[in-house]
Amino acid sequence: MGQESFTAQKRGGGAAATLPTTTPNGGRPARSASSLLPRGRQIHKTFNNIKITILCGFVTILVLRGTIGLGNLVSSESDAVNQHLIEETNRLLDEIRSDKDPDDPDNPSEPEYNPNVTYTLGPKITNWDQERKSWLDRNPDFPNYVNGKARILLVTGSPPNPCDNAIGDHYLLKAIKNKIDYCRLHGIEIVYNMAHLDKELAGYWAKLPLIRRLMLSHPEVEWIWWMDSDALFTDMVFEVPLKKYDGYNMVIHGYPDLLFDQKSWIAVNTGSFLFRNCQWSLDLLDVWAPMGPKGPVRDEAGRVLTANLKGRPAFEADDQSALIYLFISQRNVWMDKVFVENAYFLHGYWAGLVDRYEEMIEKYHPGLGDERWPFVTHFVGCKPCGSYGDYPVEKCLRSMERAFNFADNQVLKLYGFRHRGLVSPKIKRIRNETVTPLEFVDQLDIRHSAQGSSGSQS
Ligand code: UDP
Ligand code: MN
Repeated sequence: MGQESFTAQKRGGGAAATLPTTTPNGGRPARSASSLLPRGRQIHKTFNNIKITILCGFVTILVLRGTIGLGNLVSSESDAVNQHLIEETNRLLDEIRSDKDPDDPDNPSEPEYNPNVTYTLGPKITNWDQERKSWLDRNPDFPNYVNGKARILLVTGSPPNPCDNAIGDHYLLKAIKNKIDYCRLHGIEIVYNMAHLDKELAGYWAKLPLIRRLMLSHPEVEWIWWMDSDALFTDMVFEVPLKKYDGYNMVIHGYPDLLFDQKSWIAVNTGSFLFRNCQWSLDLLDVWAPMGPKGPVRDEAGRVLTANLKGRPAFEADDQSALIYLFISQRNVWMDKVFVENAYFLHGYWAGLVDRYEEMIEKYHPGLGDERWPFVTHFVGCKPCGSYGDYPVEKCLRSMERAFNFADNQVLKLYGFRHRGLVSPKIKRIRNETVTPLEFVDQLDIRHSAQGSSGSQS
């Protein structure tokens, strides 16, 4: 309307009136029509035009005000919705985080653990090897070796509650995505656990009752492979050379000299290790667990461990120190069945690896598993799900992002993509679509290279 009045005003003006414009009414110039009007009528018309202009301006202002006013209303409504969402989320988080446990009336709470009695993971099992063997004989549909390959169950997990920061949950998601990718490509089954099967063994000790329970519930599984939530596969091609461990029941990354000569508290790492499903492993779990119950037992055990292990700071007993202590103090009992592996990174300490990924990409290729292309990169001490780690949080998060993308590129390559950079979630195409896609499958599917590089075939 404002536009129309503007045009109308112009039409009545001098310069425009002299132009030979055409009109729908038979091509008669507009000027000739207006110039024919008496002067009084012209003044009246101009006055009318001014009135219309003022009216339109007024309406425009009203509409603008209305629009701005309405905008305010909408945004304050969505603010209220957001506010409500934030409050609900916080209320829910508080509820989940508080250890309030509404009592289940059908199930009276478990008896309190008495710290004066040696802790056990459950009733002592003594004949697991025979029990399991006869179960396997009775259940030929669930063999422990499939096509000559031992059945592996990869086990990982995280606390039952949300992380202290949203970014922690994001990295838990990335870490499980990374493990799902590896397991899918290598035919490995996977379990993600978020429950504390035993309330005494929370935190890093939670893996012990879980591993035991999984062994007993999955007799068809030959190897249980524990992997921390903060450990990522960074070689998507490499496979654990299981053939090498035929005479062994446990495989753990570490260094025998650090273990037995130096008694170092970092001689082996419990962030990634394998247990054979057998009586020996149940026995080891039984002697490993008693330092775990939280409270006075774990605190006192921590003092023993710090006093006996080189480099260990003073803190409560952790599963890794307890295992090292056991290996050292009962060397003759256990070590003939433990393979302390360092030919490749079953566990690789992140700080020495993450800054070298570009160099590795330039010089080497996946499938090597060692310092040239680490099998696993483990973010020891980063505690991405907690509030306090041993390293600056930005350094940890950036490094985890690099490790994730380094690994993800190996997966995306099969599909013709890669990340734009090691810290970029954005990807780019690396090949054009083709009408003969199977050529690339044969060339790039990392399952083909895995068959060549692995010692686990039999
Ligand atoms: N964990 C778990 N449940 C818990 C707490 C921890 O399953 O309630 C697992 C989780 O996978 C975590 C591992 O225990 O990665 C060991 O802890 P962390 O990695 O923080 O120790 P670090 O490797 O830094 O010594
Ligand atoms: Mn860890």
